[in-house]
Amino acid sequence: MKKHNFYAGPSILSEYTIKNTAEAIKDFAGTGLSILEVSHRSKEFTAVMDEAQALVKELLEVPEGYSVLFLGGGASMQFCMVPFNLLKKKAAYTDTGTWAANAIKEAKLFGEVDVVASSKDKNYTYIPKNFTVPEDADYFHFTSNNTIFGTEVRFDPDVNVPLVADMSSDIFSRPVDVSKYDVIYAGAQKNLAPAGVTIVIVKDSALGNVDRAIPTMLDYRTHIKKGSMFNTPPMLPIYSALQTLKYYKELGGVKEMERRDLAKAELLYSAIDSSKMFVGTVEPEDRSIMNVCFVMKPEYVELEKEFIDFASTKGIVGIKGHRSVGGFRASLYNALPIESVKVLVEAMNEFEKKH
Ligand SMILES: *Cc1c(COP(=O)(O)O)cnc(C)c1O
Repeated sequence: MKKHNFYAGPSILSEYTIKNTAEAIKDFAGTGLSILEVSHRSKEFTAVMDEAQALVKELLEVPEGYSVLFLGGGASMQFCMVPFNLLKKKAAYTDTGTWAANAIKEAKLFGEVDVVASSKDKNYTYIPKNFTVPEDADYFHFTSNNTIFGTEVRFDPDVNVPLVADMSSDIFSRPVDVSKYDVIYAGAQKNLAPAGVTIVIVKDSALGNVDRAIPTMLDYRTHIKKGSMFNTPPMLPIYSALQTLKYYKELGGVKEMERRDLAKAELLYSAIDSSKMFVGTVEPEDRSIMNVCFVMKPEYVELEKEFIDFASTKGIVGIKGHRSVGGFRASLYNALPIESVKVLVEAMNEFEKKH
């Protein structure tokens, strides 16, 4: 049966990415060897790294003066690398979910953290709007898409200090004004590649301003100097990322991804809003187009498990909500075709009729 993959992460990848990755595992770039067994210094792999970096720059229109890195350690490693490299005295953060809170926790190890706004009071069901970022903050950090709670900031905020964003779960789903940022980072396993690599886009001139000693591997300058090849990079995820980037470009870039993502989200949210059985969990104006969180209305709540089983008979996989929200979460990442969303909506309608 055809599967419809709504997992939140690791998550669906395009057939193009999977097919080309599988081929490179057997024969990489005509070398007669697997990509799993060649040197990262080989000319074939160096070309992969160069092209992947160039394509990130092209798709996101990264200006001069920025470097693109492919690092290990996950987005969670960036929670400490960012303050290690940028936090002199004070940084401002918004607390909009589990990942934001984790980032705040790490930053506190390096200096003063001003949590300028939080939506924790309502279990992170909205994006706080009215807050001021102190002018003397070294940077303002926010999570553009709150993967677990299904809220999203779909613009580049205007604040009077440099921005840092965790874009792990919505990078490449819209054009971004990179010039506003000192650092953008994104774990690959939501919208790009298998787990194991994190994209970091860093403004070169933002570095070298802190007094503390930075361990070599945690210093962005180490990786910039060596073209993201200081040590052995996660080669297979980078190869997969390159395939996805090529695929995005071929389809028309991030603008086209945004158009498709908006259409998918619109389809599912309107099904939720017109349903007697299902209800969304977040403020409509802050809804994520990547992770759609919804539950059953109180009178139907005992049917939640039954719906997940019913959906699985239609090939629908990965819609169980995160334990901190409950209910359902359908992740509509770039690689998910709208046909899968249609199947989910039909399943919801059919299930509702049945009861
Ligand atoms: C998944 C996720 C993370 C954690 O990523 P790891 O690569 O597992 O460390 C961080 N931030 C956001 C927004 C995420 O969605």
